[in-house]
Amino acid sequence: MSVSVQVRRYGGRFDGVLFDRDGTLVRDIPYNGDPDRVEPMPGAAAAVARLREAGYRIGVVSNQSGIGRGMLDAAAVAQVNARIDELIGPFDTWQVCPHAPADACRCRKPAPGLVEAGARALGTTPAHCVVIGDIGADVDAAAAAGATGLLVPTEVTRAAEVAQAPAVVAGLADAVDWILARERLLRPPVPAAPPGGRVLAVRADSAGDVLICGPAIRALAARAGSVHLLCGPRGRAAAQLLPGVDDIIEWPVPWIDSGAGPVDPASVAALLTEVGGRGIDEAVIFTSYHQSALPLALLLRLAGVPRISAISDDFAGGLLEVRHRVPEGVPEPERALSLAAAAGYPLPDGEDGGLRINVDDLDPEPNRPGYVLVHPGASVPARACPPERCAAIVEALAGSGRDVVVTGGPDERELTAYVAGTVAQDRGGATDLAGLARLISGADALVAGNTGPAHLAAAVGTPVVSLFAPTVPFGQWGPYQVPTVRLGEQLAACRDTRAVQCPVPGHPCLSRIDPADVVAAVDALAANATLRGDAGPRGDSAPHAHPAPHADPALRGGTR
Ligand SMILES: [Zn+2]
Repeated sequence: MSVSVQVRRYGGRFDGVLFDRDGTLVRDIPYNGDPDRVEPMPGAAAAVARLREAGYRIGVVSNQSGIGRGMLDAAAVAQVNARIDELIGPFDTWQVCPHAPADACRCRKPAPGLVEAGARALGTTPAHCVVIGDIGADVDAAAAAGATGLLVPTEVTRAAEVAQAPAVVAGLADAVDWILARERLLRPPVPAAPPGGRVLAVRADSAGDVLICGPAIRALAARAGSVHLLCGPRGRAAAQLLPGVDDIIEWPVPWIDSGAGPVDPASVAALLTEVGGRGIDEAVIFTSYHQSALPLALLLRLAGVPRISAISDDFAGGLLEVRHRVPEGVPEPERALSLAAAAGYPLPDGEDGGLRINVDDLDPEPNRPGYVLVHPGASVPARACPPERCAAIVEALAGSGRDVVVTGGPDERELTAYVAGTVAQDRGGATDLAGLARLISGADALVAGNTGPAHLAAAVGTPVVSLFAPTVPFGQWGPYQVPTVRLGEQLAACRDTRAVQCPVPGHPCLSRIDPADVVAAVDALAANATLRGDAGPRGDSAPHAHPAPHADPALRGGTR
């Protein structure tokens, strides 16, 4: 087994920046082998210089299929690269794929190989690299490696590529600004909080929402004497898995938790007593970008909490000591981390900021070929792939020779039985959240919608094939810092509607996913399993001594 400790130079977000070459650093001249024709893109040299000055290691990741097609030789490409190094660099690493598309290599973008190799050459992991490019293949390669993709479109970039990119800026100077702004969010110029306090963290809503607050809660725990987490009933199982949580208060928040019912004065009074009795020194209220922290801030004020921090665009008057604001498009885990930092609780040095859970018997041998886990359900119906399509996906995966396990909650047994059919193992309703995490940790890849298990996969380092309904932005809600291939029609009419029920007849964003694309995505990501030991967010977890889910003969028994 390979568990390594990733020591980072500071508690920032990124270590390295990997640039695409043609159309990003230099004008794209197809199959150019002539160094005299190299022409830097506007601002390229200045952008690279600024990043270098800020302490980033910098590299290039470039498809040069002209070599594989016999139109260029490698020596000519090397001469062109040397000229680019002279004009814009020097770069700390050059990663070039010489293959033609027909070679089906692992390095040609959108495959993740070049980004993985580039990150390794820079002494870091893809999770701490930005990949800057001008086409969809660049940002897709970033996602497949678990890196952050940033699109700088040119006149040849297709509108669909712009619309689907997790993040887009106009030019290379803006790209540098974007990276530095992301860092500033995590390291704001505010005094550190006094150590040893009793800190109340609040995160209502579902398990996934609680999981993606994990890094921020660890930041609180690093300075606080104790961390008390107020969550809703649907988030409690996730709260119990989070490192740094000392105490859980469960309260269904009527304006956030579905099913909480109307505001009940007796229930509110009970909450005030619970919170008041704990002698809380300060509270940090985490919310999604469309939720308000202010009603709860009022209740906590009534419970006697003297200092309260939250993100709020609305004026908060005397309700908040720290009213924090975050630009749109920041991934939710980082949005929460930035609030913790603004409250005086930055992520400590050496912490890599990834999702984590405390499950003591995760798979000890993640590198062995295993199974693919398909989780068809979703807490929000608009984000679930239709059952017939999930069944077809399971059949295709089994047909490609993979062992397939289907999971779901206790109320999804009918769904999982149908989706598993006769070709997969049905584990619907058979696990609690920790058990599901164990199953996911043993899988080569998870196939799931935008729902809790995708965030569990991020927390245990298992790659995700994300059947992502575009009702919310992928850049904010996609699986965080874990290799991901996103499928689904990102330009469907439900885009950015935050719909709970799909408003478009036929649910086209997910109902048209081609099972063959899922098989290809699993193949691309499962090859990653051999790299996960040194690249995944398992980095700082302790060695695991318990039997793996693989040891369960029911799982390994041939169901095909
Ligand atoms: Zn290649």
